Amino acid sequence: MSDFISANLKKLKDNKIPNPEIDLRILLNYSRCCENEIIFSNFKREQIDIKKFNSLLKRRILREPISKIINRKSFWKDEFYVNKFVLDPRPETEGIIEESIKIFNDKKAHFKILDIGTGSGAIAISLAREFENAEIVAIDISEDAIKVANNNIITKNLDERIQLKKTSFENIKDNFDLIVSNPPYLTQNEIKNISDEIRNFEPLLALYGGDDGLDFYQAFSKQINKNLKKGGYLILEIGESQLSDCREIFRDSGLKFIKKEQDLQKKDRIMIFSKL
Ligand code: GLN
Repeated sequence: MSDFISANLKKLKDNKIPNPEIDLRILLNYSRCCENEIIFSNFKREQIDIKKFNSLLKRRILREPISKIINRKSFWKDEFYVNKFVLDPRPETEGIIEESIKIFNDKKAHFKILDIGTGSGAIAISLAREFENAEIVAIDISEDAIKVANNNIITKNLDERIQLKKTSFENIKDNFDLIVSNPPYLTQNEIKNISDEIRNFEPLLALYGGDDGLDFYQAFSKQINKNLKKGGYLILEIGESQLSDCREIFRDSGLKFIKKEQDLQKKDRIMIFSKL
C-alpha cells in the first residue's frame, strides 16, 4: 500500500472515524481526476486532485458524514441527492416502503398517497417507483428541504407523478388511500445525546419531536380521520420507545391499530393503522 494511503488511513483512524478504509476509498474516488475507479492497491497520486481530497478529508475528520460530503445517499432502489437541510434517508425507514408493498399488493393500482415531511423525497419517490399509477402528494414545511426533494424528483423524471408542496399537514384538506410519514420524533433527552455527525450536519427540524418526541403524532392524530379514505392506511415511523404512547394517542382518531414492525436492530419502528 502506498505511503499516501497509509498516512491518510492513519489520520482517519487517529480521529476515530468508524470505517476508515471505506471512507478513504470513497473520498479518493470523489476527488479523482482519472476515469477508472481507484483502489488502494494500484493508487497513484496523480489520479486525484490533492487539494480537493485534502479538503474532503478535513471535513470527514470534523465528522461530517460521507453522505453529506458527496451529497449522495442510497435508499431502497435509488440514490438521492442530500445536503444538510434534509435527514439522510435511513435503512429503517425502508420499512415504510416494505409495508406499503405488503398492504397494496397491486402494483398497478390507481390510488392516492400523501407523504408528510418528505425531506429528500426518498419515501415519496420510492413509492412512486413501486406503484406506477399512484398519484402522490409530498409535503414539507422546510423551504430548503423542498428544494432538495424537487431536485430528486426532477432528476428521476417523476415531476408528473409527485406533487410537491411547501406546507404543513394542517393545510391538507384532501383525502388519501395511504398516508406515510417519518416525522421528527426524538425527545429533548435524545437530542442532547445525538452524535456530532447528526447534531452538526442534519436538520434539527427533522429530528426534534418536542419534549417527549410525540408532538407530531399528537397533532396529526386529531385530523387524520378526515385525510384518510375509508379502507385507507397510515404507516408511520416511530421512536423505539413510542409504541404504547402512539397507540394511546391514536386511540380516539377513528383508526384501528393493525400492527407494528421492528427494524433490523429489533426496535419498534413502524406502526400501521387502518380506517375500517
Ligand atoms: N431515526 C432518526 C435518528 O435517530 C430520527 C429520525 C426522526 O426523528 N424522524 O437519527
